[in-house]
Parts: sequence; C-alpha cells; structure tokens
Amino acid sequence: MPELPEVETFKKYFDKTSLSQKINNVFIRDNRVLNVQEKIFKKTIRSNIFYSSLRHGKYLFVKLNSGFIVFHFGMSGDLKYFDDIKEEPKHSRILFEFENGNFLSYISQRMFGKVDLTNTIEDFIINKKNLGIDALKMNFEEFKKSLEKRTALAKSALMNQNIIAGIGNIYSDEILYQTRLHPKTKINEVNDSKLREIFETIKNVLKVGIEKKGILKTYPNDFIIPHRKKGELCPRCGGNIERLKIAQRHGFFCPNCQINHNKTSGD
Ligand SMILES: [Zn+2]
Repeated sequence: MPELPEVETFKKYFDKTSLSQKINNVFIRDNRVLNVQEKIFKKTIRSNIFYSSLRHGKYLFVKLNSGFIVFHFGMSGDLKYFDDIKEEPKHSRILFEFENGNFLSYISQRMFGKVDLTNTIEDFIINKKNLGIDALKMNFEEFKKSLEKRTALAKSALMNQNIIAGIGNIYSDEILYQTRLHPKTKINEVNDSKLREIFETIKNVLKVGIEKKGILKTYPNDFIIPHRKKGELCPRCGGNIERLKIAQRHGFFCPNCQINHNKTSGD
C-alpha cells in the first residue's frame, strides 16, 4: 500500500510529466474511484491546467484554475504518463488527455484509491478527513503534542492518519524495529528521549524510502522491511521475525530486539 515515500515518488513523477499542461479531455473508465459526481468532475477538469502539486500524508493535491484535484492511491494505486493510447494500462480508471497529445492514467487495480475535488487543501485535510500533521514536515514539538493524551499502542498510534499523516503498516514496522520498541508499547508510556529517537527515526526511514522510490526490495539489509516475511531472521540478532495483528493490519517485529514495556500489564 502506498505510504508517504511512495506518494512522494508519485508527486515527483507527476511534477516531471504533467505539470503546467492543459487538459483537453478526461475519460472516466470506472467511476467507482470518484468521490465526486462524474459530471461535475469532467466539467471541472476539461480545459483546466495542472498548476502545482502538494503532498500531505498519503494524499496528492494538484492545483487547478480554482480548487484542487485530490489523488489517494489506496492499496495499489499508481500514475502512468504515455504518448500512445495503445499503452493505456490495464487498470487505468481515469485518463487525462493533454493538449500536447500525451496521456496520464490514474491506476487503481483494487479500486481502493479515490479521486476527489476540494476548494481548499485545508478544507479537505481538516474538515473532510481530519488528518494529522504530515510525517515528513512535522517538527518535534508538533510530533510530541500530537501524541499527548493518546493511550493507543505504539503501532496503531503511528498508523493513525488522524494523528500523523503518511505512515502505514510497513513504515511503522520499520520505525518500531529501529527504535527497539515492541509494537504493543503504550505510546503515552514512552519517555521524552525515546520520543525524540522515534521522531528522528521517522524522518530517517521516510528519507531512505523516498531515495529508494518506495522499492522495498532495494532497502538496506539491516532494515526489517526486506525481512517482513514469516520465517525470516532478524538482521540484528538472528532471531525469528514474528507477525502480529494490530488495528486490523499484520505487522512484523523481532520479539528478541523489541521489548514490550507493558508486558506486566498482562497485554
Ligand atoms: Zn532481533
């Protein structure tokens, strides 16, 4: 599932291929990905221009004449720019045709991705989705404040888009692994120096992710990411990586390296 580094990679790709281009036409291949009426969407997009883009968490906003188009990539979303209609990808759901004759496809194989329109970014982030601070742009004070009074388990807190936007199942595993925190540690029981360490690790892990363009198999071998599989060995201690379910997601961790500080509470 695309998390912050993958969406940042889509943003760079979008900026390189599609910015400043006039849109001649738009074709809706499947309107289930639209969170707005098809008619309104087409009317807004036709003859419009993609002026600039901004990412917040896992969302990509693109400025139009007035308002913004919002892309969310769900479980398997992607973008593809091409010059021959015969190259339209199989799971292309929305196709933009530019004045220069080239195309951009919004791809969503499993239909969990969504495309929307909004008047302002603030309205979407705050009123519509109640998203937290962006994981890459936040400073330590914002990070600390966002976790205040939260009693959630560390993994769910990191994945909760209403607290911090951009981190999902895979990157939360990495952040907890590198900071040696058990995924079930209660976030409000983490002390300040450990919080600082988590903060620095978030920044570092996301930066590596962006450098690697989200291609997980190319991540450093001492990360847990390339070892997120049953039967894999921990690159640090050689112990067995284990799987556990938190907040409806299967995470991976090393029970040897990642200590559960709340173990005595019977969890
Ligand atoms: Zn280990």
